Amino acid sequence: MALDAESLTQFTETVARFVRERLIPAESAVSTEDHIPRELIASMGELGLFGMTLPERFGGLDLNASEEVKVVFELCYAAPAFRGYLGANNGLGGRAILVGGSEEQQATYLPRIASGEILTAFALTEPESGSDAAALKTKATRQADGSWLLSGRKTYITHADCADLFIVVARSDPSSIGGKGVSVFLVPGDTPGIMRGKPERKMGQQGTHVAELSFNDCALPATALLGVEGRGFELTMQGIDRSRLHMGAICVGVARRLIDEALHYALERKQFGKPIADFQLVQAMLADSQAEMAAARALVIESAARCDAGENISMEASCCKMFASEMVGRVADRAVQIFGGAGYMQDSVVERLYRDVRVFRIYEGTTQIQQVTIAKHMIRRASARP
Ligand SMILES: Cc1cc2nc3c(=O)[nH]c(=O)nc-3n(C[C@H](O)[C@H](O)[C@H](O)COP(=O)(O)OP(=O)(O)OC[C@H]3O[C@@H](n4cnc5c(N)ncnc54)[C@H](O)[C@@H]3O)c2cc1C
Repeated sequence: MALDAESLTQFTETVARFVRERLIPAESAVSTEDHIPRELIASMGELGLFGMTLPERFGGLDLNASEEVKVVFELCYAAPAFRGYLGANNGLGGRAILVGGSEEQQATYLPRIASGEILTAFALTEPESGSDAAALKTKATRQADGSWLLSGRKTYITHADCADLFIVVARSDPSSIGGKGVSVFLVPGDTPGIMRGKPERKMGQQGTHVAELSFNDCALPATALLGVEGRGFELTMQGIDRSRLHMGAICVGVARRLIDEALHYALERKQFGKPIADFQLVQAMLADSQAEMAAARALVIESAARCDAGENISMEASCCKMFASEMVGRVADRAVQIFGGAGYMQDSVVERLYRDVRVFRIYEGTTQIQQVTIAKHMIRRASARP
């Protein structure tokens, strides 16, 4: 259900205030301590941010794509680790249960996912299957009584160290290859046989953890299967367009912050007797960043509107993810340049954001995978024309 314009404005203003009053002041400590304080997580839950896109009947805000991206523009004015913390609940995790879950699975999990009581992790990537996600080897073996045994290894899984519920993609038909014969399972974090790795030491986004995960003959009831057996890859891919739009919106949010930080610094910092903002070569960097951010923002808003209108936006979603993640990388690089030596120092906000944004070109499909996807759709559309 779409919010009326006034309610949406009120909500985005509330998020913007929360970002400036609570999240930004906490950023530096979150980064140094690699930990988001409980009270901030609780406040994000109270605002409804864990269930932004889930239906109201499950306690979510039921935002459509256009509303979601506007909220994310505001939320990601803060360090992206905060958004990363609630990413799987809103994204591939929560939405997989919404799309593929039985009434019982939805009723059991979605209200607690929307409130943030349950933290989810979406486990697809494996040591030998990253971009080629359909090559996954984690095995789900059906037992005579209909239950399952899950075995395998997952890598780089956000929240693997702390999730309450894993949404695991595994091969349920041992004779299958590629995306066929793959199913999705709901695996509570306290299931015997789960081994959680230690959080990896990442380049950026401290506060949100990534770790390895292994399943050693984890016994799962028949009811752990999400959606249709053997159709798990399609189920996973159903959420991917919306998720890539969301990624585009994150990049726009962080880019706005970087531009504001760079502009503010350029107005304050004096060289040759005047603010560096007076130098046209510095102005060029600011102007390029502003124009590129505005282009990404417009692309995300337009693609979200088409998504809400029921159009197939697979190509557009990949364009958003690719263009916006590359854009924010350039914007972050220019911000460091504008800060000069101060931008290279670890106590500088732009140094931290520069590291934070690098991953946007890697996860949820690398830039190269987006290029392949975009071109595939272009060729398919051209071939379909009479
Ligand atoms: C911080 C972080 C959090 C993550 N969180 C999760 C998570 O919660 N759940 C999850 O399941 N996964 C997660 N991932 C994994 C992420 O989705 C993968 O890292 C990503 O899909 C890339 O896979 P890979 O790392 O194996 O790289 P590879 O697939 O090995 O790619 C290496 C390089 O080869 C290029 N390449 C690969 N195939 C092609 C091709 N066909 N054409 C052109 N170039 C190609 C890639 O673009 C890249 O440049 C996370 C990763 C990170 C870094």
